[in-house]
Amino acid sequence: MPFRPGLNHLYIPGPTNVPEQVRMAMNVAQQDQRGPEFGAFVLSILRDLKPLFATADATVMLFPGSGTGAWEAAIVNTLNPGDRVLMARHGQFSTLWAKMAADLGLDVEIVDVAWGAGAPVSEFARRLAADREGKIKAVFVTHNETATGVTSDVKGVREALDASFHDALLFVDGVSSIGSIPFRMDDWGVDLAVTGSQKGLMAPAGLGILAVSPKAMRAAATNTMRRSYFSFADYAVTAQTGYFPATPPTPLLHGLRAALDRLHTEGLANVHARHARLAAGVRAGVAAWGLEICAEHPSLASDTVTAIRTPEGVDARDVIRIGLERFNISFGTGLSQLAGKVFRIGHLGDLNEGMCLTALGLAELSLSAAGAKIAFGSGVAAAQEIYDVAAPAVALAAE
Ligand SMILES: *Cc1c(COP(=O)(O)O)cnc(C)c1O
Repeated sequence: MPFRPGLNHLYIPGPTNVPEQVRMAMNVAQQDQRGPEFGAFVLSILRDLKPLFATADATVMLFPGSGTGAWEAAIVNTLNPGDRVLMARHGQFSTLWAKMAADLGLDVEIVDVAWGAGAPVSEFARRLAADREGKIKAVFVTHNETATGVTSDVKGVREALDASFHDALLFVDGVSSIGSIPFRMDDWGVDLAVTGSQKGLMAPAGLGILAVSPKAMRAAATNTMRRSYFSFADYAVTAQTGYFPATPPTPLLHGLRAALDRLHTEGLANVHARHARLAAGVRAGVAAWGLEICAEHPSLASDTVTAIRTPEGVDARDVIRIGLERFNISFGTGLSQLAGKVFRIGHLGDLNEGMCLTALGLAELSLSAAGAKIAFGSGVAAAQEIYDVAAPAVALAAE
């Protein structure tokens, strides 16, 4: 590795910056995961994850793995081979999820929309209404498409299901949303919500986290897809006892415990408000440069990640390369069809105003060095205008 002084400024949308307290909490001796205190320790984590999903009813499960592993667990525990599922592709993560569903033997009905659009709620509504025989067994929604910086309307999809009295399960990928922006599992009637430890949860990668509704647990009791390691039945026992069926990553669990303490100390309503405010500053900066974001409409813009289109003739890969080589900053790359066209600023997790201003200031230098016409300080100043207004105090009771 070349020598680079100072901090690496990490602005990828995951893994995110791990706070000092979380890093320290993971520096523990190995311990007996069947010992007398361990169960209560794990149960405290499962309990404190529930408010992040806004669920009282769901069973929370922690699978060693990552978000992708949790996707697989969701599918193989609840569906049957050949079941029809309704999915949209509007970015790299929704595309990969659809591919996984097909790989696992589901009959995937795909709605392709622009990368930059949200989940197509009205098209989903039309197809659900037309599905009189109830062939569609599940609808999948990527709540926050991390590749494009787009947040979709999960509640709208629930309303579409209800409007046609459709019984399909509602699966939601919340890997880059849960713990950062509002997510309301019970209110939105979500049956399976998936996240990972390394984004809004500010811990290293290594845990796939699932919240499973009672309806999805019932589906798991009779479904016929094969699984073994990723069995809901085993993890339903863990949810009762706190003891894992196989060895869990104990240091990571201590990190997650510390991260949950931070989130609950700040208060989830404040965490959400902070993400909204920091994102507004980043977007104001991008607008001041005269650049476009990937999200097609302001109402879709994500409060956890912004995908920025580089101007005609400027390769986003150069912006990212120069950013790292000259300024020791890591921006998110443009994935798949967005390669070279966008770079991304992740603004989720352990983040404050100063960190966003750093990202914008170094993006200005990197963009300029890659050939874009950028007035130095313009984006930083626009964000400062937003951050100049003191953050409103949010009542903790609002949770
Ligand atoms: C990061 C991410 C994933 C993949 O999760 P891994 O933890 O990398 O397996 C899936 N979906 C979304 C929306 C993501 O942001």
